[in-house]
Amino acid sequence: MKKNTPMKFAVIITLVIATLLIVLVVVSSNQNAETNDEMTLDKQPSTDGQPTIGEANAPVSIVEFGDFKCPACKAWSERIYPQIINDYVEPGNAQFSFVNVTFHGAESELASLASEAVYKQDQDAYWDFNKALFEEQPSDDLDSEWITTEKILEVASAISEINTEQLESDIANNVGSEEVKKDIELVSEFKVQRTPTIIINDVMIEDPFDYEAIQRVIENELEEN
Ligand code: CA
Repeated sequence: MKKNTPMKFAVIITLVIATLLIVLVVVSSNQNAETNDEMTLDKQPSTDGQPTIGEANAPVSIVEFGDFKCPACKAWSERIYPQIINDYVEPGNAQFSFVNVTFHGAESELASLASEAVYKQDQDAYWDFNKALFEEQPSDDLDSEWITTEKILEVASAISEINTEQLESDIANNVGSEEVKKDIELVSEFKVQRTPTIIINDVMIEDPFDYEAIQRVIENELEEN
């Protein structure tokens, strides 16, 4: 009996340690599961020359790679963008930038070109134009052609800061094509494959409609910076 007691004690200690190790592994793998949704990149996209809203020295940079012709981008623009502006951009914690993606071809390219021309005219009017153009996207007939110069000028004419004659001439003269080219290079550099793609500092969001995940990443970046 006397010999057995230290043995039993050793067995119990071993079991306790083993149990603790298992608990630790389970807890840490659960934590990984929470952050596995996001992908950390080697670097964050440069927002140099990109339409950007928010405090210049805000610690967090949120970049949307979006396409005016993409239905998910319209939904994101209406559902998630206003929350980000309200919760993080207006309080000065984040900047928000929009980079054009032209996956849908000629209409995407025209919208990109026109919006870059608007940005050159008036940086604030750009955001009104961006939202107004998304609003015009038809929700039923997705493949119908709706991004035309006529439609763009109609949308622009409702925004007082935009000179529509200037815009029409800029579209005809491809003003803004260098900016669109720069965007296409960024899309390729960051291997953007779908729209919208949201990158927060150097973290690519797995599900752009998961606002809680977006908040988690932003809060995390705010703690680190
Ligand atoms: Ca751009």
